[in-house]
Amino acid sequence: MNREELENIKQKALDEHIPIIMDDTLEVIAKYLKEIRPNRILEIGTAVGYSAMCFSEYLAEGGIIDTIERDEERIKEAKVNIKNVGVEDKINIYEGDAVEILPTLNDKYDVVFIDAAKGKYPFFLKESLRMIKENGVIFADNILYKGYVMSDYNKHKQRTAVRNLREYIKEVSENPDLETEILEVGDGLAISKIRRKA
Ligand code: SAH
Ligand code: MG
Repeated sequence: MNREELENIKQKALDEHIPIIMDDTLEVIAKYLKEIRPNRILEIGTAVGYSAMCFSEYLAEGGIIDTIERDEERIKEAKVNIKNVGVEDKINIYEGDAVEILPTLNDKYDVVFIDAAKGKYPFFLKESLRMIKENGVIFADNILYKGYVMSDYNKHKQRTAVRNLREYIKEVSENPDLETEILEVGDGLAISKIRRKA
């Protein structure tokens, strides 16, 4: 992989305020990926491909990341980026709304990374649980949403997002098949290990 190109893509994304994964969040996830050596990763929210390209380094030989994005401009840019970094064999983009695409998928994944519309996190969780392998891990980025989620803040135009992020945390915490940690890295990261499959 062309690391210099990946670094340029990261800088450009930051300059353009595209919400790419933060360094400390990536560091935590990378630690897990090094252990798991996943064969299949599902990502919800590609943006310009930055996180997927970072994760691709930790795939098992022949492993694949499926990543979903609905924004046409970002899809175009992600495709160019993925090619320029030289990881096109490892990343497959599903183009469209994850709410429509997820129910059509039936593969099994070692890792899921949820990083898209916050108001849809409970739905993304339900679909992820359907496809996650035993001993897999589901990560959810931006789970603390600038601290709104843990404060009594609820008068904002983002209150639907906040309500759904709280619902996500409640569900992963109460699910006996999951072992969940919420970390204050980046914008908040939920890590749910699958203990067993129902
Ligand atoms: N994972 C990326 C950043 C993703 S930003 C990285 O760290 O590099 C979130 C992306 O999710 C945005 O590009 C947005 O267009 C996309 N998105 C939001 N809701 C979506 C949905 N319902 N279906 C598909 N993509 C969605
Ligand atoms: Mg994010």
